[in-house]
Amino acid sequence: MSSQATPTLRLSGIGASPGVAVGHAFILDRKRIRTPKLRLADAEVEPERMRMKTAIDLSDRQLAELKDQITRTEGSDHALILEAHRLMLHDPMLVDEVNRLIVEDRINAEWAVRRTARKIKHLFDNIPDEYFRERRSDVDYVADRIIRNLMGQVVDEDVEVPAEAIVVAHDLPPADAAMMARSGRVAGFVTDLGGQTSHTAIVARARETPAVVGAGRASEQISPGDLVAMDGTRGVVLVNPTEDQLALFREEQRRYLESEQLALATKDQPAVSTDGFRIRLNGNMEFLEEIPSLLAHGAEGIGLYRTEFMFLDRKTAPTEEEHYRAYKQVLEAMGGRPVTIRTLDLGGDKVPGKTKHEKEPNPAMGLRAIRYCLSNRELFRVQLRALLRASVHGNLRLMFPLICGVSELREARSELEACRTALGRAGVPVGKRFPVGIMVETPSAATIADRLAQEADFFSIGTNDLIQYSLAIDRQNREVAYLYRPLHLSVLRMLQGIVDAAKSANIPVSMCGEMAGDPLFTLVLLALGFDELSMTSGQIPVVKRLMRRVSRSEAVEMLQGAMELTTAEEIERFVRTEMDRRFSGGQEGSLLSPVHDPESEPV
Ligand code: PEP
Ligand code: MG
Repeated sequence: MSSQATPTLRLSGIGASPGVAVGHAFILDRKRIRTPKLRLADAEVEPERMRMKTAIDLSDRQLAELKDQITRTEGSDHALILEAHRLMLHDPMLVDEVNRLIVEDRINAEWAVRRTARKIKHLFDNIPDEYFRERRSDVDYVADRIIRNLMGQVVDEDVEVPAEAIVVAHDLPPADAAMMARSGRVAGFVTDLGGQTSHTAIVARARETPAVVGAGRASEQISPGDLVAMDGTRGVVLVNPTEDQLALFREEQRRYLESEQLALATKDQPAVSTDGFRIRLNGNMEFLEEIPSLLAHGAEGIGLYRTEFMFLDRKTAPTEEEHYRAYKQVLEAMGGRPVTIRTLDLGGDKVPGKTKHEKEPNPAMGLRAIRYCLSNRELFRVQLRALLRASVHGNLRLMFPLICGVSELREARSELEACRTALGRAGVPVGKRFPVGIMVETPSAATIADRLAQEADFFSIGTNDLIQYSLAIDRQNREVAYLYRPLHLSVLRMLQGIVDAAKSANIPVSMCGEMAGDPLFTLVLLALGFDELSMTSGQIPVVKRLMRRVSRSEAVEMLQGAMELTTAEEIERFVRTEMDRRFSGGQEGSLLSPVHDPESEPV
């Protein structure tokens, strides 16, 4: 498509993963298919019943074929699910009811299938067993297949993203983003929904794939194949840019890569301020394949391994052996450096695989993280046993997410000890004791940090959630993304309180939320006195480089000045000015993200 012929459309969203990309749009449409609704004349009833029968037969053949393929490649577990779908296709509850609606209500087959599916799902709703309730999504799956076949649409088409495409989607679940970014074919992501700390954004950053989220109606406004230039630092998307605009983007891309190269050249020098304050810089990871990149960017350890990502692209929970192998691999790869493994943080915006849970009314405040594990004990024990066994292979630290109070920590620790004892009795080697810490990511934990510090071996602050819960903003919701303010005075005071509590109890304190890796906040974090920070690989060299260019005492002075101000806007302006004064002349300037500067005029 010629970039000159079509007028340029400019969209702005939230810069969620830095970098510039130019490519052709690939629109990912995962929305439920629309069901046509028609009334039938008498003469149309019999043909409609035949149409339905043909669609069921076709669906059955497709599922049988798929089942064969999957048995060959992935084993029988997945095949069983397809067999269950085939049974559902022939279930009288479905077939008889659809035929009844066609005959009695005189409606077309697609509509009848959708209505019947709704009715069946409603029956599942009232079954207390969670397994059966989860079968609601299977009903949708089967209904969608029949409807697509009725409408002559292609089914079972694997999403094949063309090379160097910009993937545009209304919403992109973290597992899909991970899979696509993993393929190495995607140049960038643009989504209508999402915020800077939604997990899709985090995955994109981990994969160093530029991303703009919260871009309004981008998936409707961009057409397949449109030329798209996007800036994941500033949150700008240009559709069908002019030659001049493209040249500017390419220049921006060049500058960004140059600054990155510069930072990479000194990645192995430690983060020590000019007056000798040393901070250990660790990496955050979701997948084992990220380890080489973390090491290549100078990670001194792993500060957060989000183990729940093991669950997200599959239907069945990983076995103890699978957990064990993953932990052993990361511990060995890090060769004695500390590896902080977080127990499962399922729930919230991370729901297992394609078997979507029944949505909780308010997932962020629902059964997630440690709550989920304490209510699904066997799932928790499988992971704890694997961790205990893996601990012999390296320098493990274990941490529990979303701890709100001391009882939760005690309960989780006692489960760990029970697993240790059981393994010991069975003669399984479990190694020495390792540090057991907590994520401080709720205002409750922050407020009683002094008490928690008596029973936790370390703290790691999860600012993504801490900010979400303390400023009452859903981290997924673009409408309130402008309120995500790490420099809000309440956040700074809370951070100060947590660090002080850790210091008084003499336990190490780290930060592993996204705030840790944003160069704009480096001086603030140096001043606060963190022992460690943990971030995605691409951020490590830059933060190290900035740390080495300032003294802790000047950072402390700056933070004092900032905390005398009141509004988030005033504090941000102050910090930005101070950072610019120190760094804007240098190469680091283009790495200071303007995301948090509401006044910056992008591109
Ligand atoms: C956080 O909340 O800051 C954090 C690191 O955990 P997650 O982003 O996985 O919720
Ligand atoms: Mg969190």
